[in-house]
Amino acid sequence: MRHYDAIVIGAGSMGMAAGYYLARQGMKTLLLDSGDPPHQWGSHHGDTRIIRYAYGEGRLYVPLALRAKELWSELAEETGKRLFVQTGVLSAGLADAPFLREVQESAAQYSLPLEVLDAAEVGRRWPGIRLPAEFIGCFEPTSGVLYSEECIRAYRSRALACGAELRTGERVTGIRAERDGAIVQTQTDTYSGSTLLISAGAWNAGLLASLGLSLPLTPTRKTVSWFAADEQLYSADRFPAFLFTLADSMFYGFPSLDGAGVKVGRHDGGQPADPDLLDRTFGLYSSDEADTRSFLERFMPQAAGPLRQGKVCLYTYTPDEHFIIDRHPEYPHIVIAAGFSGHGFKFASAVGEAASQLITRGKSEIDLSLFAVTRF
Ligand SMILES: Cc1cc2nc3c(=O)[nH]c(=O)nc-3n(C[C@H](O)[C@H](O)[C@H](O)COP(=O)(O)OP(=O)(O)OC[C@H]3O[C@@H](n4cnc5c(N)ncnc54)[C@H](O)[C@@H]3O)c2cc1C
Repeated sequence: MRHYDAIVIGAGSMGMAAGYYLARQGMKTLLLDSGDPPHQWGSHHGDTRIIRYAYGEGRLYVPLALRAKELWSELAEETGKRLFVQTGVLSAGLADAPFLREVQESAAQYSLPLEVLDAAEVGRRWPGIRLPAEFIGCFEPTSGVLYSEECIRAYRSRALACGAELRTGERVTGIRAERDGAIVQTQTDTYSGSTLLISAGAWNAGLLASLGLSLPLTPTRKTVSWFAADEQLYSADRFPAFLFTLADSMFYGFPSLDGAGVKVGRHDGGQPADPDLLDRTFGLYSSDEADTRSFLERFMPQAAGPLRQGKVCLYTYTPDEHFIIDRHPEYPHIVIAAGFSGHGFKFASAVGEAASQLITRGKSEIDLSLFAVTRF
């Protein structure tokens, strides 16, 4: 049986980044993935993810977001790849929406650039947006869009260059924790590791159950749609990524990048799903297209052209929608990165680094107390 200093189970957004930081510290690292990341079966596909720093979900995330930003730039520099486009992000909604208040508080506390605009000013700056008079827009010019699949490819190449071993198409079927290590069983092999990172996205609950941890993780079917849009109004050189917090829903989206059309998703809702049984056909529910189309018709009418494509993806919710990044309560050499609740990608670089520190030093430089496993 081959032995490793660290075994990463699930080499997707979080796992691939962690694999790089582990291997870079000289750890003999094995990355195991049932797919061939980046791929279409988990939570990271569909080309792009929004990154923003003035954080409506809570200002406690800001240091992690700022560290992630630094690490994404470092990765882009090391690999020579374009991983980020600075489109800016516009968050819009009623002036007293809690999300927008938190965006402003985050910006104030951390001195982040943020412009608060009334509806008329938003319409003047971006004629493709129609806001009701009582809405405001909070524009963060330094934020933008990450090419998520390209980011994973970049971490993959760096991890391999630092000596990590990656086994794709190899699904972990069992884990046995021991006092000073763990045995990992896959469909084809058995490995032993001194330490483990469990970062299997929508599949985490099952793996953690085999280690005696029953966590409230809910994999959920989500969709995104690309619509043909007026490029004069919505192309990425003149239109920001966006997030709308509405009375009963939340939508986010992207300007048209390289003529792909405007991409939009609904952040709330979705259908709880077993990731192994999930039907990944876009259009299975009429709401797959109807929700995003009616959002565009209301707020960005010239972006509500014919549907170009649609994709099905997975969120994994925790009850409070905060992440779980912690050591296993009984086996401190086993680290968990789970429950990213539909807003984790932007942090993947910093989560990977922090998880690698939990493994090698038992603690991370950045404060992870918000993400403690013991809160459940
Ligand atoms: C439609 C959509 C839009 C989103 N938009 C944003 C956004 O704009 N900004 C943002 O920050 N976040 C966004 N997110 C959230 C973000 O993409 C996720 O939080 C993040 O990708 C989760 O990463 P992960 O590593 O947990 O999962 P994944 O990236 O899915 O990685 C898990 C990996 O584990 C592997 N695996 C699973 N089971 C096993 C097993 N038994 N053995 C071996 N390998 C296994 C899988 O193959 C996979 O590669 C969005 C998510 C979706 C679905």
